[in-house]
Amino acid sequence: MGCEEENSNQINTFTKIYFMQLHTINTGLFKLDGGAMFGVVPKSMWSKVYPADENNMCTWAMRCLLIEHNNRLILVDNGIGNKQDEKFFGHYYLHGNDNLDTSLKSLGFSKDDITDVFLTHLHFDHCGGSIEWNSEKNGFRPAFKNATFWSNERHWEWATKPNAREKASFLKENILPIQESGQLKFINEGDEFAEGISIQFMNGHTDAMMLPCVNYKGRTIVFMADLLPSTAHLPIPYVMGYDTRPLLTLDEKAKFLNEAVANDYVLFFEHDAVNECCTLKNTDKGVRVNEIFKLSEL
Ligand SMILES: [Zn+2]
Repeated sequence: MGCEEENSNQINTFTKIYFMQLHTINTGLFKLDGGAMFGVVPKSMWSKVYPADENNMCTWAMRCLLIEHNNRLILVDNGIGNKQDEKFFGHYYLHGNDNLDTSLKSLGFSKDDITDVFLTHLHFDHCGGSIEWNSEKNGFRPAFKNATFWSNERHWEWATKPNAREKASFLKENILPIQESGQLKFINEGDEFAEGISIQFMNGHTDAMMLPCVNYKGRTIVFMADLLPSTAHLPIPYVMGYDTRPLLTLDEKAKFLNEAVANDYVLFFEHDAVNECCTLKNTDKGVRVNEIFKLSEL
């Protein structure tokens, strides 16, 4: 089900006015192998639109979305966190001036203010900030002590019994303590998450990844997570090597991009190191960027 179908239902039955304010939360930059990020596309092509360093690594954002929604404060994804060892973080070259705490603080918030942590999926660069060391450093606890953590049953099953290919992305320490805390709840496909926030399920990247579609200032903002990590991934065959069902991703992308053009969606990119938001247009080559802007400019 597309975002727009949900929104039109919602407008028909829409009687209450809700307060909503969106903010970008930058949690820092990291690096991933460019080849892995562009799948079967040769470097001679992808490197023209997304540059790599001398080790073939490209810089990616971990850009999260904060939604003030009536009396709720909803955080969509939360970056890589800080609890693994130097060896682990050494693979990902964390850099940049922002982190989750400073980004929240710049808006006058702290992690304790978050009421809902919405996890698109449980790969470590999306959910690692969920869990931190306890004060004795002998166990883990939720980093958001007052929040409900949202996932879905199918993805939770998939992530807690990982296949060999995704095992390195589903880290037990990021996932199991959420359930043990009692703060985990599941969303059902087709549920409206909150007034003005619907969810699209995608199954090509991983099983049952969830993309929030937010009705905001008369527009639909879609949090792209790993369906489209960056504007460089707009051409249909530019699919990450990480995807478990790349042919399904092709279909999901094509369908989504057509829907996005038809309804003038605003795409919010989690991983694009340069571009935060864009709209799309049809061109001779397929669906491409129309305008690029920051969420705060909307
Ligand atoms: Zn992912």
